[in-house]
Amino acid sequence: MTRTPFVAGNWKMHKTIAEAEAFVSGALPLVGAIDDVQIGVCVPFPSIQAVVDSTRGSSLQVYAQNVHWAEQGAYTGEVSVAMLDELEVAGVVVGHSERRQFFGETDADLRKKLPVILAAGLEPIFCVGETEEQREAGETERVLRHQVQEGLHDVADGDLAKVTIAYEPIWAIGTGKVATPEQAQEACAFVRALVAARDAEQGEQVRIQYGGSVKPENAAELLALPDVDGALVGGAALDPASFAAIVEAAR
Ligand code: PEP
Repeated sequence: MTRTPFVAGNWKMHKTIAEAEAFVSGALPLVGAIDDVQIGVCVPFPSIQAVVDSTRGSSLQVYAQNVHWAEQGAYTGEVSVAMLDELEVAGVVVGHSERRQFFGETDADLRKKLPVILAAGLEPIFCVGETEEQREAGETERVLRHQVQEGLHDVADGDLAKVTIAYEPIWAIGTGKVATPEQAQEACAFVRALVAARDAEQGEQVRIQYGGSVKPENAAELLALPDVDGALVGGAALDPASFAAIVEAAR
């Protein structure tokens, strides 16, 4: 089974509208016509419209960095899937460890968010991963099992492969401490097996990204792993040339 690789850049809380537009001007000549890798940038809310407008017709897709599960209501500071859909984003990242750690996003929230995102026809990138302490205590599989099973609990079996799962060991995010190929492969294969336990065919089809200090220098080795279907990239995705080099490594 061949899965189209998917490389997404997570800008986090970086880039004003002008900076976002400068990124797009730099990136489009490098990646805008690539059709054998799915390419996305996860953009802060204020820049989404500008980036959607400036990437229209290209291969560069736009993702949001958060969404609420409710249709609408008294949730100050939140945005709904309908609001994102109106902006014509391709999808949204949910469950990033920074949202879990600093903003209290829980597995129970993710359980509500994923079906709502899919029902709107948007693509979720669903992040999971263990802390360094959990890895050292031999709890990686327990943590991943809980996060994956809870988050995907209310996604219909036939929709599982519409979710991209990003395996991001928290100790590797923004630290320069990348997982070894063995660690990345083992964890991504484990996540795939969890999906396959629900539905074998969807387990084969679901895409699993590795995230955590991916750089142009280490991308090729990670992206060649059998159960790694792409990357979720933070720091190295802020610059068009280094982002494009990682996309090239996925081809
Ligand atoms: C991320 O933000 O999801 C991430 C993996 O960051 P970095 O590539 O900087 O480690």
